[in-house]
Amino acid sequence: MAKKFDYDLITIGAGSGGLSVVERAASYGQRCAVAERGKIGGTCVNVGCVPKKIMWFGANLAHMIDDAAGYGFDLVNKGFDWSKLVAKREDYISGINSWYHAYLKELGVAEIDGEASFVDPHTIDVNGKHYSAKHIVIATGTRPSVPEISGVEHAITSDGFFSLERQPRRVVIAGSGYIAVELAGVLNALGSEVTLYLRKHHVLAEFDTLVSDTIFEEIAKSGIHVRTDIEITRVDRHADGLLSVQDTHGVGLEDLDQVIYAIGRDPDLGKLNLDNAGVAINQRGYIETDTFQCTSQPNIFALGDITGRAPLTPVAVAAGRRLADRLYDNQTDRHLDYRLIPTVVFSHPPVGAVGLTERQARAEYGDRVKIYQTRFTAMYNSISGHDVPTVMKLLCLDDEEKIIGCHLIGPAVDEMLQGFAVAIRMGACKKDFDDTVAIHPTSAEELVTMR
Ligand SMILES: Cc1cc2nc3c(=O)[nH]c(=O)nc-3n(C[C@H](O)[C@H](O)[C@H](O)COP(=O)(O)OP(=O)(O)OC[C@H]3O[C@@H](n4cnc5c(N)ncnc54)[C@H](O)[C@@H]3O)c2cc1C
Repeated sequence: MAKKFDYDLITIGAGSGGLSVVERAASYGQRCAVAERGKIGGTCVNVGCVPKKIMWFGANLAHMIDDAAGYGFDLVNKGFDWSKLVAKREDYISGINSWYHAYLKELGVAEIDGEASFVDPHTIDVNGKHYSAKHIVIATGTRPSVPEISGVEHAITSDGFFSLERQPRRVVIAGSGYIAVELAGVLNALGSEVTLYLRKHHVLAEFDTLVSDTIFEEIAKSGIHVRTDIEITRVDRHADGLLSVQDTHGVGLEDLDQVIYAIGRDPDLGKLNLDNAGVAINQRGYIETDTFQCTSQPNIFALGDITGRAPLTPVAVAAGRRLADRLYDNQTDRHLDYRLIPTVVFSHPPVGAVGLTERQARAEYGDRVKIYQTRFTAMYNSISGHDVPTVMKLLCLDDEEKIIGCHLIGPAVDEMLQGFAVAIRMGACKKDFDDTVAIHPTSAEELVTMR
């Protein structure tokens, strides 16, 4: 007789990945539960994409207020109220949290509050109570990394940034990835004095050099102070509450309100006790999964950031939905294809990218790669008088010129990329772009008129 479990599926973590798999599984009639030790929605909703984008919208408005003079407006800017924006942002997030609680209830998904750890491959312990399931999905995400230096407890991470009730006046941000770039751009636009500490001489190293070089120039032009080939060696808090940092150049900085680390994220295995479940991790410390999100234990799956693959919300969501389709709707080959995942950096101006970088394309295909590239000032910026570049690059393969990479920087590319990503995923060639009638006057039309 089949063993009876409390649930068909338990997910550990109610973030983007965990919620998407239980939601889809419940729609197939499965009895589901989700264990969460923090706030429902996980990183994206509470301390990631959502609050970040709201701050980015605020920063964009600051840029537009500057631009308005070019359009003939004589504006008096009486200042910016950080606490007002933060309060509205947190209200918005509370609305999402409440909506999720109600939605899970409607779906009949049980919520288990607290930190989960494995008792055995079918059982978890939360606050001393045991819950069993036929399948368990680990979707515990990642947490911000901090270095082991003296005084690091005085610094904050992106999590702390989203708890700031007052706008920091002078800030150091350490890091060169998209989170560091985005937070630096937001704080700078809203009026904080920002110094960016870079371990090397670039930002966004994983992107095409056209993107990383252009964004590096734009950051320097924007008024953000950039220190390269440097690391912070120590943080001190002084009697007046202000901070100072020392660094490998022996220069240091004083009179700081905040030091923010955005140097990467580590897998969050917490107190999971993976040994009790027989789940293996890889050399980087992430849970090892195959194409079908299977771990080394047949009834346990992992998805989202904890797998160390393409750490983005829509990736976690897509993997979760496909896993439920496969397990509970007999779609036996359903899995996420991790190639051609589009991504956007909400910098100023934003960046969008899908497919191979030029370096990757050349390494794989050599001279078979043809490049189309353009750089111009968008009409909006020509009138505003602020010289913001728009840059576009298409990487094409062989005579048929199949598009294998698309890299964009400039106002509105964040909204532009999604549609082009569909075409590229469907195998579009340069001729398909050329044969598409342009929408005029837009920046996007340059992508279908490149020569
Ligand atoms: C500042 C920032 C900005 C970002 N911006 C974007 C963006 O613009 N676009 C984008 O696509 N992605 C963005 N991301 C990434 C995105 O947030 C993640 O890819 C996404 O949240 C991953 O989902 P997940 O389900 O894997 O993990 P998470 O959303 O991190 O959820 C994991 C959950 O598991 C819980 N948990 C952990 N261990 C346990 C345990 N033992 N028991 C119970 N619960 C546990 C945690 O509390 C957490 O709620 C951003 C991230 C950050 C930090």
